[in-house]
Amino acid sequence: MNTITPTSGIELLVHLGIDHLREKTTSPDRDRARDTDDEPGPTSPRSHRSKPRSGDYSCFQLDISEDDSSVAETARPRLLELPGELQYMVAAHLGFGDMQRLRRTCRHFRLLLHAEFVRAHFGGDELFVRQLTSHCQSCLERPGRHGLILQQQQQQPVVDPPSSKCFRCAAAARELRVGNKVPLASARSAWVCRWCGWPIAAGGAPPPSWASEQFHVGCYDRYHRVLWGFLLLGLAQFAVGVAAAALSLLYFRGDPRVFPPAVASFVLLWLCMAFLAFRGNRVRTYGWVGCLELVILGLWIPPIYAVAESVTAGSVEKSAVAALVFYGLNVIFRLLNFIGNIILACEYDVTKHYAPQQSLKRRLLNMLMAGLIYWTYPQCVEQRYPPDYN
Ligand SMILES: [Zn+2]
Ligand SMILES: [Zn+2]
Repeated sequence: MNTITPTSGIELLVHLGIDHLREKTTSPDRDRARDTDDEPGPTSPRSHRSKPRSGDYSCFQLDISEDDSSVAETARPRLLELPGELQYMVAAHLGFGDMQRLRRTCRHFRLLLHAEFVRAHFGGDELFVRQLTSHCQSCLERPGRHGLILQQQQQQPVVDPPSSKCFRCAAAARELRVGNKVPLASARSAWVCRWCGWPIAAGGAPPPSWASEQFHVGCYDRYHRVLWGFLLLGLAQFAVGVAAAALSLLYFRGDPRVFPPAVASFVLLWLCMAFLAFRGNRVRTYGWVGCLELVILGLWIPPIYAVAESVTAGSVEKSAVAALVFYGLNVIFRLLNFIGNIILACEYDVTKHYAPQQSLKRRLLNMLMAGLIYWTYPQCVEQRYPPDYN
């Protein structure tokens, strides 16, 4: 089978590869092993024809309609028709990524282009390691060394060869955590963006503050816009709380089901504001604030019931309608705040909706959760780790 007289580096490799292949295919031990386990060794495609196990090359079979048997006879996979030497010669012209893709197509090529061949072809240990870390281990893309995250090697007894992962594959595998730096294949490191959860590739102008060092520029802008929205929303919530308390004071002072709960909820509203103001970015207290919001929500139920009762009894006054509107708004705000605080207390990862390869349903759900967090406390994206819950 081997008719090549080696005159160059590639030919020498092919020569060695053919010897290796011959060894693997003729060794009786190997044959016996192949009979017992279902992994076949690399075989000549011609010998494969006579073999009953045709599934080995199924990835190269053309899509042939059942009623056209003459086409089925002639349309054989061309690459597998070549002798082993030529398959080696063709493969030797591939880059590392393409060769790996070929190896992933079927067992034949995984064994034909065995690890020793690939390692030797790409220049031996040192250069081979550079090839490994220059390609994403999952998708085999090559975005540049500053766009690849070096993977942690396992400790003894098993030591993995060095490898890298592109940002997209690492984000899809949910391997990145905000507040951390990841090592890059370019020997630098990158922060994981606190807004989107993707690494911030090194390069560009130095960051103006510690906070924006951990954000993409665009993400920091978005965060600022959300903060402004949160501030305006907070003012609106506070105004609604004050208006509801004022209406209770003006029109329902004598009603024990309206006035006392309204005063109590007004006091608790200030307590909630104090928690927000003095929380800092290590202390969490989401559970406490969630409980307070639930209590305020509960306190607004009796006033709503009392006022609604008076309205249905026939006396439709403007003050009662206005009170009902403001009480209702308060309840809606408190309910959303309660849910948001529970989500925050569960340490929900607010960057989840930026992860790639999600179903539409999951992405929408994650966006809803993130929206509730932005509604409740968007500053949580700046929080430090480890957390303090009290
Ligand atoms: Zn990748
Ligand atoms: Zn970002």
